[in-house]
Amino acid sequence: MMIRGTTRLLGVIGDPISHSFSPVMHNAAIAHLGVDYVYLPLPVKAEQLRTALEGFVAIDLQGFNITIPHKQRVIPFLTEVSDAARAIGAVNTVWRTDVGWSGTNTDVDGFKAPLTVLERDWKTTQALVLGNGGAARAVVVACAQLGCPEIHVVGRSPDKLAAFEQSWEESFVAPLLTVHPWDNLEHLLPTAGLIVNTTPVGMAHDASASPLNSGLTALISPGAIAYDLIYTPRPTRFLQEAEKQGAIAVDGLEMLIQQGAAALRIWLGQDVPVEIMRDSLLQHIRG
Ligand code: NAP
Repeated sequence: MMIRGTTRLLGVIGDPISHSFSPVMHNAAIAHLGVDYVYLPLPVKAEQLRTALEGFVAIDLQGFNITIPHKQRVIPFLTEVSDAARAIGAVNTVWRTDVGWSGTNTDVDGFKAPLTVLERDWKTTQALVLGNGGAARAVVVACAQLGCPEIHVVGRSPDKLAAFEQSWEESFVAPLLTVHPWDNLEHLLPTAGLIVNTTPVGMAHDASASPLNSGLTALISPGAIAYDLIYTPRPTRFLQEAEKQGAIAVDGLEMLIQQGAAALRIWLGQDVPVEIMRDSLLQHIRG
């Protein structure tokens, strides 16, 4: 990939940003396509967001991804926000238009991508979501779009759960959604056809942990889909144990790749080499 005087700029903003895998997969795809772009890590502190966005206009940045802590805070600066991003309350992809910045959330399509290749009647599949943070919001919208008739969200903080439920009141998700304390899992697991871990429990620094203890894991029904948004380690303990129960395991790597591919498609206005993005990421993760 050659950076020239004509090269157009893309990037990812966040704080911290050094851990981001996005530059690796986007620049691999850009190099493969031979298009005149480069994708940069752009460290932006929370209090510098407005200044950074003004600077992006000044330097003609074409678009950017967004990670913690800006996903919600960026919304007031955008002239257009997609329905999905509004429902979620967070934007992860922004692009320039003639009138300003437009934003959407590609996590929804990213999450759905590995599910749509599985044979499943979503109209009869109950979804069970562990955790009620930012990623859970994209998962809930995705489950509603898939057609799941019931979406059960389990959380550990009653106050946050109540706020989570209330935040959907005006949305198409509301009639499908029920929130529960963690203790309800023993009643919810046997009938759940899609079980999604959106908590960070089981991430690399804590790889021996699972959001479900062994008693709860035993309640997963064979044939259910166990989906962990975590992508390091692969597989997580939750997925290993769910597979022993006869579940189909899906980890978070494909979601990461597909949310990135969806963003790059928006910026370039063309199809993108998903397999190149996947290979570059796998190589990077394996070191
Ligand atoms: P977040 O906003 O901080 O939400 C985390 C949720 O997990 C909160 O509901 C939190 O509850 C709950 N939680 C944390 N520790 C817990 C524990 N020990 N027991 C039970 N619940 C616990 O984080 P996020 O942005 O949603 O991200 C969550 C995970 O998804 C991370 O592992 C992240 O890497 C992953 N992710 C993956 C992708 C992908 O593309 N694959 C995309 C986005 C996120 P409290 O609010 O009560 O603390």
